[in-house]
Amino acid sequence: MSREERLLALVPPALVEADRAVARRLLQDRDRGLALACRKGCAACCHYLVRVSIAEVLHIRRVVEALSEEHRERVRSRAAVIRSEADQADLTADLEGGLILTPGDPGQEARMESLSRRYLALDVACPFLDDGACSIYEDRPTPCRQHGVTSGADLCVDPFSNNVRAVAVWPLVRDRLVWECAQITGEPPRMLPLAFRP
Ligand code: SF4
Repeated sequence: MSREERLLALVPPALVEADRAVARRLLQDRDRGLALACRKGCAACCHYLVRVSIAEVLHIRRVVEALSEEHRERVRSRAAVIRSEADQADLTADLEGGLILTPGDPGQEARMESLSRRYLALDVACPFLDDGACSIYEDRPTPCRQHGVTSGADLCVDPFSNNVRAVAVWPLVRDRLVWECAQITGEPPRMLPLAFRP
């Protein structure tokens, strides 16, 4: 099996695991009187920095290749615009180099938050967002599957200032995938911005 095939093979079970983890958590939240506030058409979180493993980048590329030509071109031209906006904000290199998991590093969380804030300030929607809905919903990556809120959806436009109550899903399948990819590639446990890669 090639290295790419080994990476791609990680994804289907990870998607199932991500969905199961969310379903388990939502049942627990329901018992505590908390309901999921996320609804179709509310796409604030599709403006966030979505960080994925290299395995999911490869998977999403295959998904994009299988789209209709018109859909594929729409996604790719949006991604090019996002990349250009990030370039102008001097953010591209920081995202490409800064999204590495560094367990035990007390600065990791602050670094990730800073990058996420700067990305959100670009005010760009995910290239897969069409009319307020995910155009690759069945294939959306694990961070999208594992994100949800039980606080008012109107708060999500600014998760750094508002008191957003996220569904506390554990384990984060994305992070486990990042480590599994690092074992296969021999490279650092790196995440990549989903919006740059289709
Ligand atoms: S992949 Fe879909 S769910 Fe995830 S950020 Fe993009 S549009 Fe939203």
